[in-house]
Parts: sequence; structure tokens; C-alpha cells
Amino acid sequence: MLKKLTILISIFFLTFVCLKSQDLASLLKRINIDSLIYNVEILSGEREVIINDKPVRIDSRKFDSEKKHLAALWLKSKLESFGYNTEIIELAKNEETVVARKIGSNPDNLVIIGAHYDSFNYEPGPAPGANDNASGCSAVLEIARILKDVELNFSLEFIFWDGEETGMASSKSYVDNLVNSNYFLIGYLNLDMLAWDSNNDGKVRVKYKNFGNSYSLAQQSMGWASNYKLNLQPELVTNSWWGDGDCDSFWKKGLTSIGIADYLDYFDSMHNSYDLIKNFNYDYFLENSKFAFIITYKLAVGENLSVNPEEVLKKEKNNFIKATKNEIIELVKQKNITDFEIFNVLGIKINQNNVNDLPEGIYFIR
Ligand SMILES: [Zn+2]
Repeated sequence: MLKKLTILISIFFLTFVCLKSQDLASLLKRINIDSLIYNVEILSGEREVIINDKPVRIDSRKFDSEKKHLAALWLKSKLESFGYNTEIIELAKNEETVVARKIGSNPDNLVIIGAHYDSFNYEPGPAPGANDNASGCSAVLEIARILKDVELNFSLEFIFWDGEETGMASSKSYVDNLVNSNYFLIGYLNLDMLAWDSNNDGKVRVKYKNFGNSYSLAQQSMGWASNYKLNLQPELVTNSWWGDGDCDSFWKKGLTSIGIADYLDYFDSMHNSYDLIKNFNYDYFLENSKFAFIITYKLAVGENLSVNPEEVLKKEKNNFIKATKNEIIELVKQKNITDFEIFNVLGIKINQNNVNDLPEGIYFIR
């Protein structure tokens, strides 16, 4: 009996330890190419799906297609099947944005990962949008599936935007509400076109603009891709013009945001009826999904974004660095760095002479 009990306790303890030690490397292994492809097949009409008791093919998600609404319903049902409470919100006329939120232990700090699910075709006819942007949506779904029971430091939202192809009214409206809320945005990650790589060069764009902490996040992301040995060649890209999809909505409010996007290897298949899964490079799609997972995880767990004293000394404008109370105390005590400004998670500057008196929590310094 005692032996049985010991075994039971061991099993319980091991399970507990396993759940607790869900490190990034082991979570990454759970990203499944079959799930990624399956989602794209449904969202681009290659595979039939039952919605409202009727079999349908979602072969178009264009603004004037009735099937766009079915795509929103399917995305919602998929998030609900993972266990998330999910809403469809009308942020702009005839646009339906799908949102699910996972609450973190510091709930007012927010990380968002998003992808637009609407598609486009210049001509009449279906707009399957397999790469643009069923690929990004599928990666968001897969990340949501794997993170469901992982404890996060910060709240994490999964968003499927409508209206990207017609001017981004929905993400604009969402960000307007966000900046007037009590949430502090740690960062937004946008996924838009993840699966075209015709020559296996693994090149992928990490898009940023110099707002908030975007540049620093983009740079760190490059490092993570190499630390986790992704089979990718990420390149930092910044454009002087606007046109980076829903990222623009965040940058225009000065918020931290980066986007991941392929290099449009099948440019002729964009925004027409030829954007089909047959052009996908599956290995590349999988690697990009892993890349997105790493960035989301690092942001939402807050791991590895700690203080680098040299960066503090550089004091670049708007280059905020996240730090806990203890890290700030260490900076003062061990490195004798005292010349910095402290902001709380809402971005409000704190006048604190003695850092030991700071309440426990997460801060931003520069
Ligand atoms: Zn797109």
C-alpha cells in the first residue's frame, strides 16, 4: 500500500514538475505542420468544413463575400475548442474582428499576436488567400493551441483582424481603444504571409519602425531565431513609407510592434485566385510559425528581456528596458548606475529617490 502511495505521489509530483518545466524548447516541438496545413486548407477553401450544420468551402474571405463571416465563425469556434472565451467584435462597419484573451499573472500588461483573415482579389471570383493571410492566421491558432495551459506573466490576446485589405479600419479602432484603456502594451506581433519560399533561402522579413521599443524587439528577435537554431535567415526591414498592414495601426500610436513576413516569392499569385496552398514551402512555414511562437512566448513570459546596463547608459530616446524592482536595485547597488528614469507599466514616470521603496513589480527604465 505504501509502495502504491509512493508511486502515486511520484506520478503526481512528476506531472506537476513537467507542467511547471514547460520550457520554450519543448513547447516548440509541439508546433505541428499538419495542424498548420489543415487550418490553411479550411481557410482557403481546399477542405470542406461544417458551419451552422452545413458543409461549406471558405474559398473567399474578401470584403464582399458572405463567406468572410463564415471564416470569422470558424476562427471563433476553433479558439473555443482550445478552451478560450472568444468574441467577435464589430470595430468598423461590416468588419468582424475575432478576439480571445488569456489572462497573465500581471493582467494589465498586454501582449498581442495577430493576423488579418480577410483576403483580396483584384478581379471578380474567389479570393482564397492561402498565403495572404490564412498562413498567418493558422500560425496564430497553433500558438494559441499550445499556449492554452502555459502560465504567462502578461496577458496575451490572439486577434484575427478583418479589414486589413481595405484600409485597416478595425485595427485602428482597436488601438484607439487600447491607448485609452488601463492596459499597457508590451508589444504587438503581426503575422502576414509566412509560407512562400521558392528557393529555400529561408529569408524572412522582421519589420519594424522606430516607435516604442520596436527596434529593440526586432533586434532581440533576430537573436532568438539563431539561439533556437531556426532554419531561417531573418532580416531587419524598415520602410520609410506606411504599408505594413496592421502594424501601422500600432506604430501610428507610438506603440511597440514588429511584423513577420516572407519575401513574396510568388508575387504574381498575390491578391488573385491563384494564392493557393500548392505554392507553400511547408518547412519554411513551420519555421516561421516557430519563430512567431518564440517571440510571443518571450514577450508574454517576460523572460530574457532583462536589463543590460550598457543599454541603460546609451539612453537612446524611447529605448525603454524592462526591469523588475530587484533588477533596478541591483543596477544601483552593483553597477552603481543611478542615472535613469523609471516608468511604471502604464508608462507613468515615477519620482523615486530610493529604489528600495519601489513597490514590487515590473518597470521600464531608460
Ligand atoms: Zn496580407
